Amino acid sequence: TPTFQIRNFCIIAHIDHGKSTLADQFLLKTGTLQEREMREQALDSMDLERERGITIRMHPVTLYYTYGGREYELNLIDTPGHVDFHYEVSRSLAACEGAILLVDAFQGVQAQTVANAFLAMEANLKIIPVLNKIDLPQARPEHVIAEMEQALLIDPAEVLRVSAKTGLGMDELMAAVIERIPPPQGSVEQPLRALVYNSHFDTYKGVVVYVRIMDGQLRVGQKVRFMRTGREFVVTEVGRFRPGMTRCEELSAGEVGYFTANIKTLEYVNIGDTVTDALCPAAEPLPGYKEPKPMVFSGLYPVNNDDFEDLREALARLKLNDSSFTYQPEVSDGLGFGFRCGFLGMLHREIIQQRLERECDIELVQTAPNVTYEILKRDGTVVTVHGPQDVPDAGQIQEFREPIVRVSFLLPAENIGAIMQLCTDRRGTFVRTEYLSPKRVMLVYEMPLAEVIYDLYDKLKSITHGYGTMDYEFIGFRAADLVKLDILVHGNRVDALSVIVHRSQAERRGRAILKKLRDQIDRHLFEVALQAAIGSRIVARENIAPLRKNVTAKCYGGDITRKRKLWAKQAEGKKRLKQIGKVEVPQEAFLAVLEQE
Ligand code: GDP
Ligand code: MG
Repeated sequence: TPTFQIRNFCIIAHIDHGKSTLADQFLLKTGTLQEREMREQALDSMDLERERGITIRMHPVTLYYTYGGREYELNLIDTPGHVDFHYEVSRSLAACEGAILLVDAFQGVQAQTVANAFLAMEANLKIIPVLNKIDLPQARPEHVIAEMEQALLIDPAEVLRVSAKTGLGMDELMAAVIERIPPPQGSVEQPLRALVYNSHFDTYKGVVVYVRIMDGQLRVGQKVRFMRTGREFVVTEVGRFRPGMTRCEELSAGEVGYFTANIKTLEYVNIGDTVTDALCPAAEPLPGYKEPKPMVFSGLYPVNNDDFEDLREALARLKLNDSSFTYQPEVSDGLGFGFRCGFLGMLHREIIQQRLERECDIELVQTAPNVTYEILKRDGTVVTVHGPQDVPDAGQIQEFREPIVRVSFLLPAENIGAIMQLCTDRRGTFVRTEYLSPKRVMLVYEMPLAEVIYDLYDKLKSITHGYGTMDYEFIGFRAADLVKLDILVHGNRVDALSVIVHRSQAERRGRAILKKLRDQIDRHLFEVALQAAIGSRIVARENIAPLRKNVTAKCYGGDITRKRKLWAKQAEGKKRLKQIGKVEVPQEAFLAVLEQE
């Protein structure tokens, strides 16, 4: 296909605004799939995605469509819709010249509509604004178009109206894709430059690298180089997604497809990297490569210690398919052997835990999540901290820094006061508000990521009765008055119970943890002291009163079967007790504390 007959585009939308349904409509309209062979939402193939209705992996598809007597090659690149995968969204946008901005004609502009539209504008894409679900009787197209104009400076005259469900308006949309989106620019004469915008691991073929060819050509047998790592491979297969992997001879400048090259691990393939010809390399890689860094960490422990090796294998398998996930062995006093795992965000964390439990049948305990911190030490070095156990002694710390995010909310105007209060309580800094209409408002705050990850989303949903949405973006590290809060059980510091908190919250948090512990630990023959401390300073304390000698004697007086049952139960319980100094702490105590918040 000559480049002037190629169009590369994606669909961006808030969750549930109809992206998958519209993608299916494109497959039908171009005859790529027949109605009967089309499973609902053919592009969302992973089970977990289907259940959650989100797109985690980006599936591209190449479509052919005849318009004005010419056959066009249309490459539709699906993008993930969730905030955890922002970086992947920006990479897939870089593979396109245009974007369909899809907005539900009833729900209107939402937080991810705004976030994704701005990403697309920053990437200089031609935007085709589209109102979806106009078949709904409650659709309010005029209002929603006004919101799009207000929030995104979209020209109302450019907005198309479709129903992805019934196919209404699809002809006009196909025409707009071809007429409004510019064809790709690159040159076949130049040395190869291909943007890696995604990949997956195939047991037989090795890594399948998803590429957009910017310049030059890519063929079987060609020796290629990944410019960031310098690693070289010989291409074994080149193809397009139609939507299944379909071999072809070559891919040329402007086209989208995949290649394989017996690459054994995803670690060699970085999203955002540039692939060039090893014999005739390009002078410069494509701009914009950035290492995606895990932002949220938590410990993952097998409930049964014997499952440790199985868990290690399962994590290694998972890593093959998800290079943004990280893990490292760690040992905890309370929980035994496990791994400290890094995730892009809370949804990513949940997805991985579910996948592990589902695919390898290991019961897991997940510790409370924490964000990544940076510490400037007095000796001038900067260390990255993935958990409380990595925090150096207070005396060595010059500056404690935490990650800050810019959070955008889209809300009913009546809830603005309550959400502003919530943000202030969470150490947020007000940035701006903007009314999209008298009834809907956009609110922007800068806030510590640590204050966002636990339950901000749930709080927003409950305050706004489900009508508020939010999205956030990492903006950098900032110094804050943070401390490591230690928990002492009868004078012994217990690592698994330490937390990193803002100094102003240390006392309250310490008291809450001690209270939970007090309820979990049985009485002993002596009084058990529980303390929360910052360094050597005690900020909260609780005592567990000693056992009175004859209290238990009474309950063993009954009949023998009841007695046996009790003994058996006690024996079972014993296995899960951890000895901390002279005190026996049940395993559940660790979980109760870690899960609290
Ligand atoms: P996604 O999260 O953006 O991929 O959204 P989906 O394509 O999964 O659609 C979300 C829901 O909206 C599904 O129940 C769809 O059937 C429904 N939907 C999508 N497009 C339309 C439409 O044009 N009209 C109506 N009535 N429902 C639609
Ligand atoms: Mg979808």
